[in-house]
Amino acid sequence: MATVLPIANHTFTEERNPEVERLCFLQYEGYHLKHPNAYRQLVNEPAAVCDRCGRTARNRTNLCDPTHLG
Ligand SMILES: [Zn+2]
Repeated sequence: MATVLPIANHTFTEERNPEVERLCFLQYEGYHLKHPNAYRQLVNEPAAVCDRCGRTARNRTNLCDPTHLG
């Protein structure tokens, strides 16, 4: 009899904390479409740019390979 291990409520769609998630991931999930105003807050007045994907963000923790802007 197969046993399915309970994976504790591991959802990839809701209840994200955008402050600690990378923009690549948020965009992949469509966060910018579901929460456009919140997403704008993350990219407004960017302080860092990602060397890997070229995205910019106000908080460097939102980037996968952040470099200080300016
Ligand atoms: Zn990136």
